[in-house]
Amino acid sequence: AVNSAELIEIINLIAHDIQENKDFLTELDSAIGDADHGINMSKGFKAVNEKISTMGDKDCGSILKTVGMTLVSTVGGASGPLYGTAFMRAGQAVGAKKELDFNDLPIILDAALEGIKMRGKAEKGEKTIIDALEPAVEVLKKSSPVDIKLMEEAVKAAKDGVEYTKGIIAKKGRASYLGERSIGHQDPGATSCYIMLAAVYKAIH
Ligand code: ADP
Ligand code: MG
Ligand code: MG
Repeated sequence: AVNSAELIEIINLIAHDIQENKDFLTELDSAIGDADHGINMSKGFKAVNEKISTMGDKDCGSILKTVGMTLVSTVGGASGPLYGTAFMRAGQAVGAKKELDFNDLPIILDAALEGIKMRGKAEKGEKTIIDALEPAVEVLKKSSPVDIKLMEEAVKAAKDGVEYTKGIIAKKGRASYLGERSIGHQDPGATSCYIMLAAVYKAIH
């Protein structure tokens, strides 16, 4: 199981991998957006890093909610409110728990997915975060109890989802202004979502 201090460490690992991929994410966004996705995510997770550093004595739900509120308030782009809502919903779903285990993963990620869908009104196949997150959630919900093998499979499904975004037309966000010209490029938000899921997998396996 993962206690509050360990949850903070996992979130810091997510932040670390986002920083490492800052230029890559921005490059992806330069092809079909406004070249700021890496900058947005990096800025948001730097603030998250600082905000949660003193929360080791708080419950897991409060930590996740704080991550969400920090992303909403520090990230200007579309991704801030979307990922912010995702973490806030995840925090609500977890509640006052002081420890999380594998079986909380589908609960957390399903709440995150529903939050993003509620906020952004996107469905699978529109070249967004959803194309990476929803396949991962589907895998995690297909059998229980959840173990590390299933999480590995979920991360793989998210990666396949990122690949899938290369072949489809963007229907939401800035990339949708390009219409058919968005084909051939992988979606920045789906990519950052995969990076975060892969970071969680690396942290817990
Ligand atoms: P902005 O487009 O405001 O510059 P970012 O560059 O940080 O914001 O984020 C762009 C990413 O946000 C896209 O690659 C896409 O994955 C995601 N996105 C945009 N709109 C939506 C939406 N309605 N639902 C889900 N994801 C979305
Ligand atoms: Mg952008
Ligand atoms: Mg922008």
